[in-house]
Amino acid sequence: MNQIRLSNTHGPEWVTLREITGIEEQAVANTSTLDAIQLLDALIVSDYEGGLRQGEVVNLTPWDREQLLAAVYMRTYGVRIESTIKCHQCAENFDMDFELDRLLESLRPGSYDALGVTGEANGIYRLGDGITFRLPTGEDECAVIGLTPEEAKAVLLERCVQSDSKSDELSKYSDIVQNTMEALSPLVALELDAQCPECGHDQSVYFDLQHYLLTTIQAERKRLMQEIHALASNYGWSLSEILGLPRSQRKILAGLVEVDEGGGL
Ligand SMILES: [Zn+2]
Repeated sequence: MNQIRLSNTHGPEWVTLREITGIEEQAVANTSTLDAIQLLDALIVSDYEGGLRQGEVVNLTPWDREQLLAAVYMRTYGVRIESTIKCHQCAENFDMDFELDRLLESLRPGSYDALGVTGEANGIYRLGDGITFRLPTGEDECAVIGLTPEEAKAVLLERCVQSDSKSDELSKYSDIVQNTMEALSPLVALELDAQCPECGHDQSVYFDLQHYLLTTIQAERKRLMQEIHALASNYGWSLSEILGLPRSQRKILAGLVEVDEGGGL
């Protein structure tokens, strides 16, 4: 079990996640925020008093949700993120890798003072000029799916800014409010610097943790089928029994079958 502390200023302060199984791996159909929320909800162990429960991931702010996605990634695949990049200048492919825990640490939100806000009760923040707001949650993000960036921004502000702050002045501060929200609870989605080892060309590479994790899980679908086939053939277990195995256990057993058969899966 992984216990992860949340930065929530109201509501549960921690969550317990279990290891992923084939059931969740198979259920990942896309890379949307909704897919991420469904995956995390499925992995929550709700048995502990005071922890976040299944069905409540939608209430988390972006930064807390990213912490959970990172925990799932690191437990499943380790801390290293690896990617092959094509150089824009010489067209050679090169490998780029970094450690996810160090990237997260570098993105950790600054202090309220540094961000120019004060924290009030119940997850409300106040900007120096008096505008009060709460942070958007997964529910708010899902409510703006399909809207243009401008429409989405307007709807998010409408949902998150406190009604007593809504005045003609708000439009003047909308960018500051949005930027402060993002600084208080960032997504792990950013441009990273990469340098081609062949020609030395510098270019930026976009990394989005949610997209990377969900794509990685989907890319293993064929391998999952091979493991199911190996275990079903050798042990005679049902599909639901095999899918219910923790991923690490399934892989060890499939590896043993592979050794017994003297070949690769
Ligand atoms: Zn190059």
